[in-house]
Amino acid sequence: MTDSFSNLSLAPTLARAVAEMGYESMTPIQAQAIPVVLTGQDVMGAAQTGTGKTAAFSLPLLQRLLKHENPSTSPARHPVRALVLLPTRELADQVAQQIKMYAKYTQLRSAVVFGGMDMKPQTLELKQGVEVLVATPGRLLDHIEAKNAVLNQVEYVVLDEADRMLDIGFLPDLQRILSYLPKQRTTLLFSATFSPEIKRLAGSYLQNPITIEVARPNETASTVEQRFYAAQDDDKRRVIRKVLDDRGIKQAFIFVNSKLGCGRLARSLEREGLKTAALHGDKSQDERLKALEAFKKGEVDLLVCTDVAARGLDIKDVPAVFNFDVPYNAEDYVHRIGRTGRAGASGLAVTLVSPSDARLVGDIEKLIKKKLDVETLQLDTAPTGPAPEKWGTRAEDRPRGSAYEGRRRDEFDPRDALDTPRERRGGFRPAPVNRDPFFSKPYEASSANVSPSWDAVPKAPRSSISANIKPKRKVAALFKADE
Ligand code: AMP
Repeated sequence: MTDSFSNLSLAPTLARAVAEMGYESMTPIQAQAIPVVLTGQDVMGAAQTGTGKTAAFSLPLLQRLLKHENPSTSPARHPVRALVLLPTRELADQVAQQIKMYAKYTQLRSAVVFGGMDMKPQTLELKQGVEVLVATPGRLLDHIEAKNAVLNQVEYVVLDEADRMLDIGFLPDLQRILSYLPKQRTTLLFSATFSPEIKRLAGSYLQNPITIEVARPNETASTVEQRFYAAQDDDKRRVIRKVLDDRGIKQAFIFVNSKLGCGRLARSLEREGLKTAALHGDKSQDERLKALEAFKKGEVDLLVCTDVAARGLDIKDVPAVFNFDVPYNAEDYVHRIGRTGRAGASGLAVTLVSPSDARLVGDIEKLIKKKLDVETLQLDTAPTGPAPEKWGTRAEDRPRGSAYEGRRRDEFDPRDALDTPRERRGGFRPAPVNRDPFFSKPYEASSANVSPSWDAVPKAPRSSISANIKPKRKVAALFKADE
C-alpha cells in the first residue's frame, strides 16, 4: 500500500513507536505532508484537529532531529531545535503528549509550557534542555523574557491551528516569538482555512511553502445541500419548523451570532414544544456537557449554539444545520455547515436570510465561489417579509457598509480562550475560564448503553489530558476509555 508507514523509511526508534500506537496506514494529511517535511521545505497545510496532523508534522520533524540526539546530561547539548505553537493549553497538552509518545524510543527530549500554571516546574524542565518545545504563545514569551527559553538554535517552527491563534488575537505575540528565531529554519503552518490573514502570515514567515490540503479549505462538501431562505426575524422559527416537518428531520444544530440570541432562541423553541438546548460561552461547563450529552443521546433535538462554543466539536452525523443568523464571518459558514454531510452522508444546511444580510450572503458567495439563490419558502400563512425580489444578493442589492461589519471580533468571548494575548493582560483581564478540553478535541459519540456522563462515577481520564491539567470531575468522564 502506498500510504503505509513502512514506505517512509522512518528510523527504527520512530517506526517502533508508530507501530505501538497501532496505526496501520497514514491518514491523507500524513501521506501528503510527511514526505515534504522530511525534505525540510516549508509547508502550509489545511487540516483540522482529528485528521492526524500532529503525527504529520512531528514524525518527520523528529526524524530530522535525530542527528542531534545524544545521551549527555548537559543542558547545553539539548537546545530547543523545534518549536510548536498552539492556541490553547488543551491543544498544547494534547500535541505534547503525542510527541512524547512518538519520541519515546529516541533520546530527544520534549516539554510543554502553557499559561495558567506555575512557571517553576516548566522552568526546571526548560533549564534541563529540551529539543522539542510545545507552547502557547503568551507563556512562551514569559519564559523567553525570564531567559528560561533560548530559541536561537531553533530549526523548525510549527504554527498549529494558526487560524485560531489569529482569531484569539495572538498575532503580535507570534510576531515577537518569530523575531527571536533564526531566519534559516523550516516553518510549518497548519490552519483549518486559508483566510487572507493566514495567507498574509504565511507570506511574511514562510519561504516558498508547499501547500497541502486534505479537504479544500474554503469549499463546502458536495454532500451538503445548501438552501438560503428569505425570512424576517419573526418568521425564522416557523421556517425552521417547516423545514424540519417537510423533510422529516429529527435533529439539527442551529447557529446564532450572539450568546444573548442563542439563549433567547433556545427558550422560544422550547416554549413551542421542541426539545432544545443552548450552547454558548456563558453556560457553565456542566450545562454545556449536559446539553451535548443530551443531544448525543437524542434527548434533545435542537442544539442552539454560537460559533465559539461549537468550535472544535466534532459531533458526527447531524442531519441538518440551520443558520438562524447569517454568520458575520463567511468562513464560519464553512465551519458551521461542515457539521453536516460528513463522511459521505448527505446533509442539509439552511441559512435564514433577512434583508439586512444581503452583504453577508455576498461574502459567502465570494468565499465558496458559488452563486447562492435566496428562495422564499411558502409558510402556512403569508410571510411578513418583503417581496422576494428584495432578497437578491447581487452586489448592487447589498447595503453599503454592513451594520455588522467588525462586530464579530467584538463578539469574541475572551473567556473562551485560555491564554489571553499579552496586550490584553495589563488592562482588561477576563474572568478565569473553565475551558472545556471537550471544545478543543473532536467529539466522539458514546455508545448508547452508557449512563449519562454527569451521572456516572468518573473513571480514570484517558491519557489525552495530562497531570499538568487538573481535570474537572465532569470533564474527566468525557475522556473515559469506553466512550
Ligand atoms: P490529530 O489530528 O493529530 O489530533 O490526531 C487525531 C487522532 O488520530 C489522535 O488520537 C492520533 O493518535 C490518531 N492518529 C494519528 N495518525 C493516525 C493513523 N495514521 N492511524 C490511526 N490513528 C491515527
